[in-house]
Formats: sequence, structure tokens, C-alpha cells
Amino acid sequence: MAKIGIPRTLAYFLYYPLWKTFFEDLNHEIVISPPTTRAILDAGVKEAVNDACIPIKLYHGHVAYLADKADYIFCPRLVSVRKHGDFGTETFCPKFLGLPDMIRFGIDHLPEIIDTRVDLKKGKKELFNVFCEIGSQIGNTHEEIKRAFSKALKVQKQFDNLLYQEILPPEAMDIVFNHKPAQVSHDNCDLTIAIIGYPYVLYDSYINAGLIRLLEKENVKILTQDMLSDKTMNRQAKTLPKSLFWYFSNRAVYGGLHFMARPDVDGIIHVTAFACGPDSLVDRMVEIEARRRRGMPYLSIAVDEHTGEAGVRTRIEAFLDMLRYRRDKI
Ligand code: SF4
Repeated sequence: MAKIGIPRTLAYFLYYPLWKTFFEDLNHEIVISPPTTRAILDAGVKEAVNDACIPIKLYHGHVAYLADKADYIFCPRLVSVRKHGDFGTETFCPKFLGLPDMIRFGIDHLPEIIDTRVDLKKGKKELFNVFCEIGSQIGNTHEEIKRAFSKALKVQKQFDNLLYQEILPPEAMDIVFNHKPAQVSHDNCDLTIAIIGYPYVLYDSYINAGLIRLLEKENVKILTQDMLSDKTMNRQAKTLPKSLFWYFSNRAVYGGLHFMARPDVDGIIHVTAFACGPDSLVDRMVEIEARRRRGMPYLSIAVDEHTGEAGVRTRIEAFLDMLRYRRDKI
């Protein structure tokens, strides 16, 4: 039995159910870093290259936390998770592609890294091949891997279905793993806001200064692009002359386009990461479409290592006041 270290950031927010189930079914122990803290962020800032975006710095901090607690660090090289369709040029952002090398050469005394390349464009069986490679690296047999893979897919599907019922990923994980009841009531909500952005920014309450908690306290129903099925996403992709190159950026754009066409959505907030190259395009694309073409209220919030709750709260409160004033005036 090995201890597998999983950083609680980046793709964790969407794929942890798959990974956790797979490793645990193979009788390995998961060691997961805690939710982001100031100490983790500071460690990441120290370990990562200066010009990295804040999520990549954070990833370094989470890995540094796990360095002496696990036998392996799970850091798959995420290239593409689209299996088919018109997404021939789409990949994860280049920082994801180089992530295993960045941590290997950036952080001292790391245990072995599981850095299997995930490129699902290669064909239908590629996901299974990926898990075979991971399982073999940690000493499991083909039969064990096959069984664990099948169970992991089922749990991931259960998680995805909860997202499609408009449950946020952290709550969906609680439902799947801690058997919490799926109680989501929006009876008291008088506004619906779509928040778009990268999952590792939207669902990390430290880095976004508690944005989701703040909106919930203000009786806002929250929607995010991760609650949309692949079919809905693909429909939006077809409305564009060309998609971007980067997977998570495309999801944010498709989500923004979808929500701005929905009459039940009062406004859109884009949470963007400081020093993110792809986000400068995402932000302009969605903003132009929302404000100029659709008349949809739009707020962009950039987060970095200095983002504070007071600054975010002030902007959110002003945005909500404007939305309520606008609604009551119409
Ligand atoms: S998409 Fe942007 S925020 Fe995400 S890892 Fe790449 S550069 Fe960083």
C-alpha cells in the first residue's frame, strides 16, 4: 500500500472523485493537502517561478505541503480530456502541460511523481490506458486496475450528475463521499448569478476571498459553467467561429455564452486569475458579448495573492445593489 499525495487544487475540483475512488479501490491511501491557507500560498510563492500565475504558485504550495507526507505525488500531465468532436487543437493551458516538470525541478526532496500523460484525443481506450499506466507505476495488476477503473468511472459519473443538478463541486463531493443529504434550497434567493472562471479559482474560497459564501449570504442563487453538460457546452462552441486553444478557458467562455442567454440569470461574474494569459482573452470575449451585445450586467474580479475579503465584498455589494435596482426599475 502506498500513500498517494493529491494537491487540493487545479483539476482536483472536477476530477477528485475519479482519482480517489481509483486509488482507494487499489488499497492505497490518499493524502490530500488541506484547503488553501496563507502558509500554503506563501510556500507556493517561494517555490514557484516569479512570473507564474497565482493558481500555479498555489499548486506549488500544496505540493510542498505533501512532500514529506506521501510516497508519490499525483501530478498527471493533463494535455486533453476531449474524446471526440471538433476540438482538434484544444489542450490544457501550457502551464498544465509543464506542471510535472515545474514541480520536479522547482521543489526539493519530492517523492516520486506520477506524471502520466493524459491525452484523450488519442482514442476511446486512452483513458483506460492512462489508468493502466498509473496503476502499474504503483504496483497493481491489470485485473485490479480494471476493477478500480470501472468503479472510479461510476463514482465520477455520480459526481458529475450532482453538478448537473446545480450543486457546487465541494457540496457534491460531500454528498458522494460523506453521504450528506442533497439539500439545496433556493427559496430565499431573489437573484441568480452565473459565476464563470477556472474551477481552481471559483471553488478555492481562500484565493477568491470567500466569494461564493458571500453571495450565498446575500441570498443569491449561484450557477457555474461546471453545472452544464458536455452537450450544452458543445452547443455553445458551435456558435463561435473559432474556440480558444485552452480547455478550461473554453469552458468559461461557453458557460458565459450559455448563461447570458438564460432569462433566469440576472448577471454574470467572471473571476479571473492575475497573470493568466488565456484569461485576458476570455474576459474580453465574454465582456463584449455580455455588455455590448446582450445587455447583460457583467462584473470581472481579478484575484491574486493580495486579494482581500473587504475589497471583494465592496465590489459584490455594489454589483448586487445595481442588479436589484435594475430589476425593480423594469
Ligand atoms: S489557465 Fe491561466 S490561471 Fe490557469 S494555469 Fe493557465 S495561466 Fe494559470
